[in-house]
Amino acid sequence: MSGDPAIEIDGLRKSYGAFEAVRGLSLIVERGEIFAFLGPNGAGKTTTVEILEGFRKRDGGDVRVLGVDPEHGGRAWRGRIGIVLQEGRAQSELTVRETLTLWAAYYPKPRPIAETIVLAGLEEKAEDRVGRLSGGQRRRLDVGLALVGDPDLVFLDEPTTGFDPVARRAAWKVIAGLRDLGKTVFLTTHYLDEAQELADRVAIIRAGCIVVEGAPDALTAGSPDTEILFVAPPGVGLDELPVPEIPQIVDGRARLQTGTPTSTLATLCGWAAERGIELERLEVRRPSLEDVYLELVDGDEPAATEAAS
Ligand code: ATP
Repeated sequence: MSGDPAIEIDGLRKSYGAFEAVRGLSLIVERGEIFAFLGPNGAGKTTTVEILEGFRKRDGGDVRVLGVDPEHGGRAWRGRIGIVLQEGRAQSELTVRETLTLWAAYYPKPRPIAETIVLAGLEEKAEDRVGRLSGGQRRRLDVGLALVGDPDLVFLDEPTTGFDPVARRAAWKVIAGLRDLGKTVFLTTHYLDEAQELADRVAIIRAGCIVVEGAPDALTAGSPDTEILFVAPPGVGLDELPVPEIPQIVDGRARLQTGTPTSTLATLCGWAAERGIELERLEVRRPSLEDVYLELVDGDEPAATEAAS
């Protein structure tokens, strides 16, 4: 292994008793990229991430994180890694600024506290006690705590769970900002839109194996046709529409799948315009990362549906 990428995993294995949770998993995360690790509940994400963080021992395979085997990572190595766990760790009686100051003392070269507060979007809450923060604000503090040591690599475990839509967008800005700072981000999330928005590359894990890996756009490019949806005009039979095949009706709309969306749409819209027909609820949809994900993991377990919700 070269040790040059931020993370290198080769043939990783981990069992709990007779149950093999991770089965020969290999992947590379380059420095400076946001990498999203996706998969249904129980797929092996936490097991993998905890091995990368040095909290869990593996049974087989090679792992390098910032060039070091996490099982032998010392204090200096740990100082280069920031971790945002699902459960926050901050004490409630201290203020946001005091908490960050306390944590900064653990690191050899911490990021200035004021800068960390801005980065986490907590300027207005800096002097508030942690116990008084809302759930979303606490999560931002968790991000601040992961960044205060000025790490090269940040693990974010479901960083926006429970956020309102505005707070999610704000968190996305913070995460995208980490890339601008040259950090590597390893993001675990059940939100497919989050991965599509933020990730340079994603990997989908299922039953302990990677089933697909690549840039979100590349993954959706290979998937089926573009969808065209519209309410079928009243008084016009589906077989009268000027489209290559008779559309299906889905949720009250006609649905076409086409590999030639431009010409199909041009013909359809030209036909409607000539007759003065407005095609209600007209929509053209490219397959999303969520579509690809559902195709790959659907039917696994109830969690697959939950993951995409
Ligand atoms: P989620 O999305 O629900 O967090 P995950 O992808 O992180 O799931 P893991 O927590 O890695 O999944 O678990 C993978 C499998 O290993 C699951 O079947 C789980 O029950 C099992 N497992 C995890 N930790 C242990 C443990 N300490 N002892 C026994 N089995 C475990």
